[in-house]
Amino acid sequence: MTKDDCLFCKIGRGEIPSATIYDSPEFKCFLDISPASRGHALIIPKEHYDDIFHIDGDTAGRLFSLATVIARAIKDETGCEGMNIVQNNGECAGQTVHHFHLHLIPRDADDGVGISCWQQGETDSEESKALAAAIKRRI
Ligand code: 5GP
Ligand code: ZN
Repeated sequence: MTKDDCLFCKIGRGEIPSATIYDSPEFKCFLDISPASRGHALIIPKEHYDDIFHIDGDTAGRLFSLATVIARAIKDETGCEGMNIVQNNGECAGQTVHHFHLHLIPRDADDGVGISCWQQGETDSEESKALAAAIKRRI
């Protein structure tokens, strides 16, 4: 189901214009309106899912498969050296549009794009093993 009041549902339905790269009955890819770098694109399912906690694995899998194709096209066109795939879930994680989307952000050396800058923490190997096992039990 799409939602009446969701920005990306409206873009998916073509009610709000976008610089469109790809359009199919299931997915749409378009350029971000405030790009982190030239060619910064978003892929959305047209169906509304709030985030990764709501989308089903098959849809997410097909969306990521499409991302591999679009990533190569963006790289070929922009000549970027690398690319970040970013996917935010929840306000605390930086999600501002609560309709599942994947960011494709072209990168070049010294481009000044502020991603991948988290503080690296420390781990205790016993605690890590216990945590991994606890998460594993929930799969
Ligand atoms: P988030 O922060 O939720 O991961 O990413 C939302 C993204 O949507 C932002 O990068 C923002 O620039 C982009 N965005 C917000 N409104 C629009 C819009 O109307 N059109 C397009 N093309 N992108 C948008
Ligand atoms: Zn939506």
